[in-house]
Amino acid sequence: MAAAPPKYVYRFSEGSREMRELLGGKGANIAEMARLGPPIRVPSGFTVTTEACIAFLEAGGAVTDDLGRQIDAALGELEEEAGRRLGDPSDPLLISVRSGARVSMPGMMDTVLNIGLGDEAVAGLAERTQNERFAWDSYRRLVQMFGNVVAGIDGMLFEGAIRAARSQRGASLDTELETDDLRSLVEEFKRIFLEQTGREFPQDPRRQLVEAVGSVFESWNGARAIEYRRLNGIPDDWGTAVNVQQMVFGNRGDDSGSGVAFSRDEITGAPRPSGDFLGNAQGEDVVSGTRDTSDLEEMAEMLPEPHRQLIEIVESLERHFGDMQDVEFTVEEGTLYMLQTRTAKRPPHAAVRVAADMVEEGLLSREEALSKIDAAKLEALLHPSFDPEFDLDPLARGVPASPGAAKGRIVFAAERAVEQAAEGERVILVRPFTEADDVAGFHAAKGILTSEGGKASHAALVARGMGRPCVCGASALDIDLEAREMRVDGTLLREGDPIAIDGTSGVVSIQDVPLVETEMDRYFQTVLDWSDEFGRLEVRANADRPADAVNARRFGARGVGLCRTEHMFLGDDRQAVMQRMILADDETARRDSLAELEPLQRGDFEGLLAVMAGMPVTIRLLDPPLHEFLPRAEDLAVEIERRVATGGRDEAVERLEGELHRVRQLEETNPMLGTRGCRLGLLFPEVYEMQVRAILAAAVAVREREGSAPELEIMIPLVDYERELVAMRELVERTAAGVVEGLGAEPVPFSVGTMIELPRACLIGDRLAAHADFFSFGTNDLTQTTLGFSRDDSEGRFLTEYLRRKIVSRSPFETIDTDGVGELVRTAVERGRRERSDLALGICGEHGGDPDSIAFFHGAGLDYVSCSPFRVPIARVAAAQAAIAAKV
Ligand code: ADP
Ligand code: MG
Ligand code: MG
Repeated sequence: MAAAPPKYVYRFSEGSREMRELLGGKGANIAEMARLGPPIRVPSGFTVTTEACIAFLEAGGAVTDDLGRQIDAALGELEEEAGRRLGDPSDPLLISVRSGARVSMPGMMDTVLNIGLGDEAVAGLAERTQNERFAWDSYRRLVQMFGNVVAGIDGMLFEGAIRAARSQRGASLDTELETDDLRSLVEEFKRIFLEQTGREFPQDPRRQLVEAVGSVFESWNGARAIEYRRLNGIPDDWGTAVNVQQMVFGNRGDDSGSGVAFSRDEITGAPRPSGDFLGNAQGEDVVSGTRDTSDLEEMAEMLPEPHRQLIEIVESLERHFGDMQDVEFTVEEGTLYMLQTRTAKRPPHAAVRVAADMVEEGLLSREEALSKIDAAKLEALLHPSFDPEFDLDPLARGVPASPGAAKGRIVFAAERAVEQAAEGERVILVRPFTEADDVAGFHAAKGILTSEGGKASHAALVARGMGRPCVCGASALDIDLEAREMRVDGTLLREGDPIAIDGTSGVVSIQDVPLVETEMDRYFQTVLDWSDEFGRLEVRANADRPADAVNARRFGARGVGLCRTEHMFLGDDRQAVMQRMILADDETARRDSLAELEPLQRGDFEGLLAVMAGMPVTIRLLDPPLHEFLPRAEDLAVEIERRVATGGRDEAVERLEGELHRVRQLEETNPMLGTRGCRLGLLFPEVYEMQVRAILAAAVAVREREGSAPELEIMIPLVDYERELVAMRELVERTAAGVVEGLGAEPVPFSVGTMIELPRACLIGDRLAAHADFFSFGTNDLTQTTLGFSRDDSEGRFLTEYLRRKIVSRSPFETIDTDGVGELVRTAVERGRRERSDLALGICGEHGGDPDSIAFFHGAGLDYVSCSPFRVPIARVAAAQAAIAAKV
């Protein structure tokens, strides 16, 4: 006997919020609302599962008999409940077919409304509702959506027909079309359908239903959905569920309407419901942004009782789900129906405020609230804003749809944004409105500006989700996409012209507005304070200059985990001396140049150490290959040629030739694997000696001035062999003792440690630990050398293809490759601690600011992470989240 077929269909009454894997997020939450019951009212229906989707796709896109039978059974029950039958010519049941994956993929997959209408049923609907226009408009929408979504007909064909009908009638809005116009439109649409597909528009409502279900399943493998999954790291094998639901109508007159609402302000996070409402309209009209919506206060005046219920329901849903909610609703002749609820996307600063408020209101514990924050997005909170002091002359104003300010060059197409950003250009994507296909452009752009739509438009939702500044509905913009230009009042702007937007105020300007950094508000401060309580990993910052250190402290760093000293040799006054030092023929000449650099270097360290007084500061001795400080050989050769041609050979030319010779000597084929790191210290000890003298002398001076000694940590880069470390440690200790003695000062305590950034160093962690007070993992180099990927050459080249083909799921330079690089880190930690239990362990690569990598470092048992100052808040929250997740 064959095994019982899997259950592919669940009535809303059978599901619950826990079943999102099977029912999709939308289906699970609709079921949950149905289960909660009055005052919540949900139109009846059922969900076809994600498993059915996978089975359908595996069967080559066929609705199996099993699935067909289960759908028929559920449909029978729905008809019973509704008291109407699908396709009944006198009183037809109408249904919607709605996609819904496990996680929300806004606008990525398709929905078909008004299924069940046909040439006969349309008359029955008109009769029952006493509204012919409404019936024909519904039929018109069905043929259009079905044609577009299910039959894949280009939507422009239908739009063109509507436009023609409008101009014939002299109407500017669809709502001005009359019954006869709509009747002819349906005929026209059916003709388009036949012409494009070679078959009649299906009149059989069950056919309509089955085909619509199949096409939602197929949309899971559509190009848009695949691209969205790639960008958001969603597995391909999840599938989507389909929800089949009785239609309710918001376009039945003045006591009807549709809207979206949030349980808290979706922009600021303030604790009061907000939203958009459109009277006498269906839901698609709200989102499309073609008509101006009202806010909830205005809805309260139009429909006071449904409004009161809506507020009550939204607040109770938030309590029930334990998070801010985003709902869709329709009012049909005074009765409120809930169509959807989900966790609300919110801009990062609202996320922080909601977390802080919900704890204060007793709705969540601090751990729960912290875990709900998307740490990676917090950097946007430190996004700049327009300088309030600046004399602003706005070009236009729009809806402040996603906070933060941005400046860049105008592009009018998502592809252009991607291209230009790849070339290093800062761009602002300007569109009348945006669609799912534009999402890649959001990633590439610094900000988004649209001329249509409001806070609920696609552009606003996606921008907020990504933390990109966005101004919507700046209606003064008259955009000509084809000509790649726009007119704003009298001003003509072309692609490439500079523009500035402020998504906090909605202002658009063509002035070169200075941007200023924003202060952390009290909610952010609260969340960060909690983070420090729960986090075990300490967070330090990478800071080379006093200004970086000031930011590091401002964002709550507990020290400097990496000061790169090479930056101190750049700049006009220094680079020339540095070059003379490198190009010197012998040690004496080198020492002369170093003597000139030493006071400059000491001054730099004094500045940094003074800011960080009382905290640990890890200073790395010179690391990069020396040729980075030298002029390029080609430039020198050109200069020599020019001089010879104009003035003949002279002393200057000879000097330049000497330089060129030395530059060529120093040139390396693989500089990243060449003479750098401690290899420099071994070949040119006088360089490291100078640096150590400068560090110690600075520390003595700061101790005198500030009263407390900085916690100095001197770090040796690129160590491979135990003997390298032994030699460098000896150099540091000997030189330091000399300085202290020379100054007649009290000894300054310091520790000596090593970067761990080569696989060999990880493997001999125990032997290195015998000579190191600390290890600091340099995961950028460790990733390059473990994978054999050159960071500079892989990103944007083969790595892009690797990501596309899923050979890797994330760039190993962004998120640590736990299987390879991570395993080496664990090995070094284990071997190092075995030799020396009090060995301090940290990481100072880019990964130090990446939440997923931070979770790994927490698990690996490190003591601290160090990242760029602007990522310190992210790291603090991520460290707490890692600790909280590890506890449960
Ligand atoms: P999306 O995931 O793109 O939001 P939905 O499945 O939520 O797609 O459908 C889009 C819109 O269609 C909804 O916001 C709602 O306005 C409308 N809609 C869907 N089902 C129904 C229904 N049963 N009755 C009335 N309107 C519906
Ligand atoms: Mg929806
Ligand atoms: Mg390195």
